[in-house]
Amino acid sequence: MSDPNCLFCKIAAREIPATIVYEDDDVVAFKDIAPQVPVHLVLVPRVHLAGLAQLTAELAPVVGRIALVAKDLAVSQGIAASGYRLVTNCGPDAGQTVPHLHFHLLGGAPMGGRMA
Ligand code: AMP
Ligand code: ZN
Repeated sequence: MSDPNCLFCKIAAREIPATIVYEDDDVVAFKDIAPQVPVHLVLVPRVHLAGLAQLTAELAPVVGRIALVAKDLAVSQGIAASGYRLVTNCGPDAGQTVPHLHFHLLGGAPMGGRMA
């Protein structure tokens, strides 16, 4: 369920320090160590999977849980009205650097680079 060598598994288990802003049995959200915008959170499932490419039907509900947590965090972080993005990077061309599925919640400033 978790990978002892995985950075985000260790953060979720509080073995490595991070500023955790939300956690429950399924999802952990913490501040990105190198924020790209004023509000930059990383949302991860507690269960280890390397990325979206490894998602299975069995594990898919956790993505819905992450979306719900992101929506509520957008409110509590004060970016719900101004707008935000929820982004996952999968694989090298997308720039994924940590091989544990995660979603970036980004907001607090206008963002360029629209891709879709
Ligand atoms: P990605 O590039 O999509 O794989 O996103 C990985 C994110 O994790 C980057 O935005 C990093 O800044 C962030 N990150 C890496 N190490 C840590 C850490 N120890 N605590 C918080 N965020 C981190
Ligand atoms: Zn992991």
